[in-house]
Amino acid sequence: MTFSQPPARRGQRLVKGLPVSGGIVIGKVLVIDDEIRRVVPRSIKPEDVGHERERFDKAVKKSIAEIRRVHEQAEREMGKEAAKIFSFHVGMLADPTFSGSVHGMIEADKVTAEYAATHVLDKIASQFRSAKDPVFATKVNDIDDLTDRLLAQLLGGRKSVLEQADSGTVIIARDLTPSQTAGFDRERILGFATDQGGMTSHTAIIAKALEIPAVVGCQALVREVQDGDEVILDGDHGMVIVSPDPDTVAEYLRAIEQRRQYQVSLGELRDLPSVTQDGVDIHLVGNIELPEEVSRVLGAGGEGIGLYRTEYLYLTSKTEPTEGDHYRAYRRCVQLLAGRELVIRTMDLGADKYTQGQAEVPERNPFLGCRSIRYCLKNQPMFKKQLRAVLRASAEGPIKIMFPLVSSIAELRQAKFVVNDVMEELEEEGHAFDRSIKIGMMVEVPSAAIQAETFARECDFFSIGTNDLVQYTLAVDRINERVANLYNPLHPAVIRLIRDVARAAKRHEIPVSCCGEAAGDLEFAMLLIGLGVRTLSVSSSMIPPLKRFVRSVTVEQCERVSREAMKLESDVHIAAYLRDRARKIVPEAFDMPGID
Ligand code: PEP
Ligand code: MG
Repeated sequence: MTFSQPPARRGQRLVKGLPVSGGIVIGKVLVIDDEIRRVVPRSIKPEDVGHERERFDKAVKKSIAEIRRVHEQAEREMGKEAAKIFSFHVGMLADPTFSGSVHGMIEADKVTAEYAATHVLDKIASQFRSAKDPVFATKVNDIDDLTDRLLAQLLGGRKSVLEQADSGTVIIARDLTPSQTAGFDRERILGFATDQGGMTSHTAIIAKALEIPAVVGCQALVREVQDGDEVILDGDHGMVIVSPDPDTVAEYLRAIEQRRQYQVSLGELRDLPSVTQDGVDIHLVGNIELPEEVSRVLGAGGEGIGLYRTEYLYLTSKTEPTEGDHYRAYRRCVQLLAGRELVIRTMDLGADKYTQGQAEVPERNPFLGCRSIRYCLKNQPMFKKQLRAVLRASAEGPIKIMFPLVSSIAELRQAKFVVNDVMEELEEEGHAFDRSIKIGMMVEVPSAAIQAETFARECDFFSIGTNDLVQYTLAVDRINERVANLYNPLHPAVIRLIRDVARAAKRHEIPVSCCGEAAGDLEFAMLLIGLGVRTLSVSSSMIPPLKRFVRSVTVEQCERVSREAMKLESDVHIAAYLRDRARKIVPEAFDMPGID
């Protein structure tokens, strides 16, 4: 069903973005525009002046200590000259004129430390901005940085705007971190839209995992809305309708009901096998970030967990998890899975997966930096802590270990070596574990895909991570909305890599799965099945539509379609061709109510 008249023509504001997590919700806007900077003037009682001044002094002290640490590290890694900027930061904060102005304002205007500090810093920034000398103009960013740092210290113990959200809230933000999204209270937050972000940004992945409707890459939505505005968020079509008229609301309410019925019909497949019309099993397993999601995957009819993103143990906690924390999380999953398989991916920290608190000195090119297995190999005590916990949990149920972002054979060997080391330790200590635990790797870097034959000899399984494989093959940042149109898993170069990986796996008789977001798209799944992939690991919400598709198609059909797709020379042609084929098989999945 499509609507008779696009809302834009009815004078409503319609903003398009990327549909990253399905579902339609209608709610009230809460804007998070750099939450930390939303400091409203708040008066204080005269007797609280001393307390506010003290809070400010403490925040300054802590910020200076923090900057000094960053400074030292920056000096070691980038040299004295590049690190000089931090001396300016310290100098600013330690300047008695600055603290004098803030104290003076708290006292004279009876306002909070947050407000006084931002006000004084804003004034300095505008002086720099209007200075003729370009050197001063560049200092504005530094002042912004300082403001953020000070406010983070001051607001640390306070309730954030997010925590104060009412029920029925739709968050509209410039951007959200994966950990912010993971912390959403589902009782109150219906969905979100962000100006930044791409199809496979981790924020988008979390939204899908938690089944929160989401649209990202809306460019300038934050400027279009105000707190309390009514919005329709259409995560199926990547659309936000601001202040919809009653007719549009009524149409969308009907769409929501139709969607609900479709979901119910998919739910009926839950306990049926995922087998093609010509009798081939296609294993549908789930991607999870937290143990609580296991039940969601099983509830959707998933057969196990094909990707546990364990870095979320870090991202959702302020301190580094202990071996016990790891162990408890893994054991919990094993218990919930009751004999079904659990693939634990070792920590994939770095790039966009840091919380502010845990961020190290920013890398200039974090997606090409010290992330993932590289980070673990450099931080072996941390890595071993996790491996000990994984192995101990393997005594309780079927677990496989998977390394992320492997890009050279030396890395794989080194990581396996660490596992062996840990096994010896555990043996000496008398701990039980699965001695023949399977060890596999993600294929998400082109070098690994190209060398798949070599890797296949030394590991027990492959899982193709299209989210990263696409960004590294096509040189397209997966979280940058400005190049989102170039991010396409159906690019012929990506498909060729996948074909080669699947062939290498077959030749060496090791299983190959796909756990990137694309595996949940029916047209891409058709291609994967045609290329020989027999396990798809996806967010729980994608399992039911995939199962319907699998049960409606034959492998022979998929093979024919993938052969034809391989002959086409552009992603646009391949996408159109596959969409057309998949639509013929399950038309209802492509004709969801809403506006295309
Ligand atoms: C991938 O890159 O496809 C993947 C599954 O890993 P992540 O999205 O966690 O980087
Ligand atoms: Mg990845």
